[in-house]
Amino acid sequence: MGTNDSSGHPSSSRQRSSVQSLRKRPRAQVLIIGGGINGVGTFRDLALQGVDVALVERGDYCQGASGASSHMIHGGIRYLENGEFRLVQESVVERNRLLRIAPHYVKPLQTTIPIFSTFSGVLSAPLRFLTHKQQGKPKERGAFLIKLGLSMYDFFSRDGGTVPRHQFRGRKRALAELPRLHPGIKYAATYFDASVHNPERLTLDVLQDGEKAGAAGPSDARASNYLSLVSMGGAAGNSSGSTGGSTVQLRDELTGEVFDFTADVIVNTTGAWVDLTNQAMGAASSFMGGTKGSHIVLDHPGLLEACNGREIFFEHTDGRIVLIYPMGDRVLVGTTDVDADMAEDAVCTDAEIDYFFDLIGHVFPDVPVSRDQIVYTFAGVRPLPRHDATQPGFVSRDYRIERGGQHTSAGGAVVLSLVGGKWTTFRALAEHLTNDVLKELGLERKVSTAKLAIGGGAGFPDTPAGIEQWIKSHMSAGRDADRISGLLTRYGTRAEEVLRYLDAGPDRLLHSTRELSVRELEFMARNEQVGHLIDVLIRRTSLAFRGLVTGELLNEVAEVLAVPLGWDAAARAAEIHYAQEVLERFHGVQVHSLVA
Ligand SMILES: Cc1cc2nc3c(=O)[nH]c(=O)nc-3n(C[C@H](O)[C@H](O)[C@H](O)COP(=O)(O)OP(=O)(O)OC[C@H]3O[C@@H](n4cnc5c(N)ncnc54)[C@H](O)[C@@H]3O)c2cc1C
Repeated sequence: MGTNDSSGHPSSSRQRSSVQSLRKRPRAQVLIIGGGINGVGTFRDLALQGVDVALVERGDYCQGASGASSHMIHGGIRYLENGEFRLVQESVVERNRLLRIAPHYVKPLQTTIPIFSTFSGVLSAPLRFLTHKQQGKPKERGAFLIKLGLSMYDFFSRDGGTVPRHQFRGRKRALAELPRLHPGIKYAATYFDASVHNPERLTLDVLQDGEKAGAAGPSDARASNYLSLVSMGGAAGNSSGSTGGSTVQLRDELTGEVFDFTADVIVNTTGAWVDLTNQAMGAASSFMGGTKGSHIVLDHPGLLEACNGREIFFEHTDGRIVLIYPMGDRVLVGTTDVDADMAEDAVCTDAEIDYFFDLIGHVFPDVPVSRDQIVYTFAGVRPLPRHDATQPGFVSRDYRIERGGQHTSAGGAVVLSLVGGKWTTFRALAEHLTNDVLKELGLERKVSTAKLAIGGGAGFPDTPAGIEQWIKSHMSAGRDADRISGLLTRYGTRAEEVLRYLDAGPDRLLHSTRELSVRELEFMARNEQVGHLIDVLIRRTSLAFRGLVTGELLNEVAEVLAVPLGWDAAARAAEIHYAQEVLERFHGVQVHSLVA
């Protein structure tokens, strides 16, 4: 468990082309297990190098930690106090790169740190550099320490040139800019980081780039969701004999069918489940020590206004760094950091909601919040390395690659396990992992991903005027600016491909939301590996995140998807029921269906 949504799936007898492509030729040079951003990023990079690569994900893409992040693409100023300079530098460089190569989803994020003291924390922070352990309750980070951190941050950013340097404000000016901030603040520091607005879709774009590179190149790049690695396959797992490699058993989670698959190199990017996956392959490891983090999403115009378009990033009274920030017309509040039990569901608890309300009160004391303003909650497990005495908040956020297994002409695969890896650094991490795989295969890197636009980020207009022009030039009879703007936001410039699909047949907007049309849902079902109704609500659109799922919407979307996905009346009802269950159990949302 430890996942965001993985309760019992309704079954189906549908043969999916993604699974068939793996079944038909059950062998690849490299098999990646886990379709979070790190597995998918590595898939794309390997495909671009012409490697024959396959990827399997047991649920939907981006349903693990990658779908539960705080949406920040950030240098991680906080990690400076852990002494993680390499990580911070790489993160800042990658943040600047993602702003350029994925501008459709990664946007600059103005961030303000309210500061309540001048010198606190200065002595405790260097101690943490040395020991990597937390000595008692953390001291509050004062202005001096934050100024030092932000100056280093600017220094790491000096070659990027994409974000302005930080600014320090005294109390008076800070309160003029953010009048609802706690009047007891002494200073406010403002700087720029970035946020990823649609992590689920960015993951899909990265995946599809990989599939396209495979289709265009000499080898193949195949991926399927709802396909899990369950155990070693063949007679003893090394069934391929003279051809080398190891054989594992895969299970289609929608039909229950199992089959064997063989690869020379296995890449284990199953995040917090890395040890469990290694165990399933018969190799004990104890690399991981994941921590759970939760968030709430509020429909709260007063809080939205108080943030004034900025992320408010600050230290709560317990020393944890927390955040409040606007995402569209909603406000995201997070996060917690507690040792996770992988046998339990990762869900946002009542106690965590109390904590979030408390932290809002800490910086915006005159902005009341109530539980009925929460439209969505989510939680996930960070794939952190095993930690003993270190408190969760101070565990290293850097990543490493562990080599196991063996690769000989008589059989056996090398297994590379990823330990750690943030959203922000996924491209650089994928580059490292790919380089390691290429070394195992005796191959050379052919293509760098450092400047390669991702999916619908290619040709994305980079100014508000450019966006307006793009929208105007794609409007047509029956499709107004709002609709085109919605498509550009959802797909980036891939919206052109979607528009061609919409134009190829009669179409209409849904009755339950003006944001989607019948043919657009069909497009998703045919091109984006939709396995369940819930995938569309959470990961192909942001309807669930924004609290816009109604009983009418559930019924209508299920009815439209039923045609391309071959759902009969019973399967449709099961999908609606499953979506309700996931929303209630993992996201604190109750939706009453119109179907009995
Ligand atoms: C609360 C929280 C806040 C965060 N905030 C940020 C942030 O603001 N910025 C940032 O940069 N990072 C953030 N992170 C970290 C970041 O989200 C993760 O480190 C990153 O997404 C990990 O990606 P991954 O691909 O390694 O793992 P995951 O996304 O967890 O993917 C692993 C996948 O493996 C699959 N899997 C497991 N077992 C099997 C199997 N047997 N067969 C097939 N598939 C399997 C799972 O279903 C899962 O989809 C946050 C994380 C959390 C939890």
